[in-house]
Amino acid sequence: MKTIADLGDLRGKRVLVRSDLNVPVDGETITDDGRIRASLPTITGLTEAGARVIVCAHLGRPKGAPDPRFSLAPVATRLGELLGEDVACATDTVGESAHATVAGLGDGQVALLENLRFNAGETSKDESERGAFADELAALADAYVSDGFGVVHRAQASVYDIATRLPSAMGSLVETEVEVLRRLTSDPARPYAVVLGGAKVSDKLGVIDNLLGTADRLLIGGGMVFTFLKAQGHEVGTSLLEEDQLGTVREYLARAERDGVEIVLPTDVVAATQFSADADHEVVAADAIPADRMGLDIGPDSGRLFADTLADCRTVFWNGPMGAFEMAPYAAGTQAVAEALVRVTTGGHLTVVGGGDSAAAVRQLGFTDDQFSHISTGGGASLEYLEGKDLPGLSVFEQQNEDD
Ligand code: ADP
Ligand code: MG
Repeated sequence: MKTIADLGDLRGKRVLVRSDLNVPVDGETITDDGRIRASLPTITGLTEAGARVIVCAHLGRPKGAPDPRFSLAPVATRLGELLGEDVACATDTVGESAHATVAGLGDGQVALLENLRFNAGETSKDESERGAFADELAALADAYVSDGFGVVHRAQASVYDIATRLPSAMGSLVETEVEVLRRLTSDPARPYAVVLGGAKVSDKLGVIDNLLGTADRLLIGGGMVFTFLKAQGHEVGTSLLEEDQLGTVREYLARAERDGVEIVLPTDVVAATQFSADADHEVVAADAIPADRMGLDIGPDSGRLFADTLADCRTVFWNGPMGAFEMAPYAAGTQAVAEALVRVTTGGHLTVVGGGDSAAAVRQLGFTDDQFSHISTGGGASLEYLEGKDLPGLSVFEQQNEDD
């Protein structure tokens, strides 16, 4: 797949970069700038090469029309602070302001276009509507760099269609992400363990299905574990439960048994009377959850069991918090798994954290990025990659290579 070096001399060229700058914003305050930081290497690489860099991105889910609540203006400010230079911010995406902003760029300067999703064409299912918007984006630039890993699983105008219209390459963030995911899927060092948690088992069925063929151990916690416990015949009280997935989960358990994949479930859980930090809560056995309580974290025995199971692993992929970590009484399970991964990293082995909430969890718990081999910026994209799905924002580059 093409990288920036393949684009040749970029001095004075207008380069449109699709970044993932979809950060959590509270009013005008960015509460976690992780994705902005992750976008910096590609942007600075381009400015150092003398390019005129036009960054484009989306924020939140505006409905295809301008909406000030989803303006990227605060992101432009933060991006400027991190780059140490002003970032001009257009007030539209492909209109007069965008054209004027781009025309005002000097070599090595950076501008940010307004939220791509202010335009219905960005996410349209109608190919011609999407194509028309991609044409407008393409008119702003001489080359395109795809660096928004969090969106490469989307066939959107700024991710897919644009790459068929301009000389295009992958940015270094996408390159790094793909490299790590490849290590997980092709011949991972074993034992290879996958820790899955998070809210819903239905979000992760595809990946479980695929992992049963590649991982040696599957550790399950979070809200999704109660569908597994129920499938084994245990009562789960008022815990999150997806009744309609019980059949599928039973089939997975049988397949794991048959194929020798070790499935590790918690032996105890923290059971609370309500989904709240100050609810009455206690540790109970995983097969004895009281009818009026919900499991909001794996218990301390399970934390140790999970840590022991990971201790000798040479590859670990983790997606999804072990509990409702946003509330302190239910963060210990996630903490225990994070600590276990750190020990695996320290031992020189590959640890990958994927998922927006998982990444937020490890940072909230005070871990630093360098305590893991890699923290993926794209939860959905990394899961779809591991599922073995076609990712339009990546395969568009493979198609181009075939055409060359
Ligand atoms: P990621 O973004 O890392 O893929 P998910 O979005 O799947 O993770 O899930 C994260 C959410 O799951 C968190 O907000 C967390 O509070 C919630 N969660 C984890 N365990 C439980 C549980 N036992 N009950 C309810 N919610 C849970
Ligand atoms: Mg999430």
